[in-house]
Amino acid sequence: MAARKVDYLLIGGGLASANCARWLREEGAQGSVLLVGREPDPPYNRPDCSKGYLRGEESREDPLFRPETWWSEQNIELLTRTSVTGLDLGARTAKLSTKDEVGFEQALIATGANVRRLNVPGCELENIHYLRTLGNADAIRTGVADAEEVVLIGGSYIGCEVAASLSMMGRRATIVMQEKATLERGFGAGAGRFVQEMLEGHGVTVHGEDELERFEGEGRVARVITRGGLELSADAVVIGAGVTPDVGLARRAGLEIGERGGIACSSRLQTSAPGVFAAGDVCEYESVLHGVPMRIEHWDVAFNQGKTAALNMLGRDVAHEVVPYFYSVLGDWGELEYVGPASEWDEEIVRGSFDGAGGFTNWYLKDGRVVAALTWGRSDDLEHARRLLGEKPVLDAPARARLGDVDADLGAAG
Ligand SMILES: Cc1cc2nc3c(=O)[nH]c(=O)nc-3n(C[C@H](O)[C@H](O)[C@H](O)COP(=O)(O)OP(=O)(O)OC[C@H]3O[C@@H](n4cnc5c(N)ncnc54)[C@H](O)[C@@H]3O)c2cc1C
Repeated sequence: MAARKVDYLLIGGGLASANCARWLREEGAQGSVLLVGREPDPPYNRPDCSKGYLRGEESREDPLFRPETWWSEQNIELLTRTSVTGLDLGARTAKLSTKDEVGFEQALIATGANVRRLNVPGCELENIHYLRTLGNADAIRTGVADAEEVVLIGGSYIGCEVAASLSMMGRRATIVMQEKATLERGFGAGAGRFVQEMLEGHGVTVHGEDELERFEGEGRVARVITRGGLELSADAVVIGAGVTPDVGLARRAGLEIGERGGIACSSRLQTSAPGVFAAGDVCEYESVLHGVPMRIEHWDVAFNQGKTAALNMLGRDVAHEVVPYFYSVLGDWGELEYVGPASEWDEEIVRGSFDGAGGFTNWYLKDGRVVAALTWGRSDDLEHARRLLGEKPVLDAPARARLGDVDADLGAAG
């Protein structure tokens, strides 16, 4: 028997857990809520780690989900620096790294994701960084303080955002990536080139269609050697090579793992164990909107899934139907916003142009239906994109022409 028991056990100290705790209380949950997170900080907004916090423009408190006092005001018990090390779903108990055991009525697993590490020769050298936490951001800020040349491995949004931040901090940044253009895996070649040209316009060097072979240096990194034969001098390195969902605890507890590597959940975000839910980067849910299981690593998705999980813990029986939204801020130059996500499409329609002036919205279509939209400076278009994603009309030629016409009324598209 566990020494103590809570009504709601929230595992993971990130946004999904935090917003679940908030919505439990906002929707009237009276029972005890315990949130257990292994990081030293209370739940915070991770996106700040590559943006204002990395550049030293924000204090340690600025990214916090809520001020530290909020948790006790809400009567939510917050355990930081503590891991849940085991779950017994039959006995409904959790073991903590403090050696305590806690019983629970219902649980949320929101353990997030871990960075994908690159095991290449020289990877143990000093001043090679990954970026996931505020602590990582501190280490990078310190590590680039005296650096002239910083090499970024990976051309996805972490690489691009960090490059933009470094450029604002007056560092020379070089990106090495497998793709031909930055961000092209998610957003296609046109939008990818738009971002790359913006980075290059701010002094960032980009080497595409190449990849990391090894690091060299004496104790500390000094050079990046690529498979394509480049030898880049590097006083510091930041690697952004993707993440993998942290399903270890769930797997050991016997929960079902989905085909996309996340914890398999229903549209209600319930796992294969009744009363145990998942949310955020680790959650693979039956998406009503997409008609297939989805696992999405976006801030907004973690936020909204935390709410859906809370409502279902309170017995509301609601499907998670929010259209997934993603944003990426590049320095103080502007912001990409995206709804989707789409892994494949057969047509792109550009509203506006990729040349920078006036912004653009890039529509992604599959079999005549809008499956995603990306915008720079035309946020209002995303309202129409959400509608088209929800209603899924097949667009005829005039409707498709309207999508690409900056003067057309999009309310009529489809
Ligand atoms: C640098 C950076 C910038 C980003 N920028 C953007 C952006 O601009 N836009 C966007 O949409 N998304 C962005 N993201 C992604 C977004 O931050 C994530 O999708 C979001 O944080 C996921 O929240 P989560 O709660 O699911 O998981 P996480 O934020 O990963 O939180 C999970 C927490 O649980 C803890 N944990 C894991 N296992 C256990 C355990 N057994 N016991 C206790 N605690 C445990 C982890 O240590 C972690 O603190 C960014 C991510 C990073 C790293």
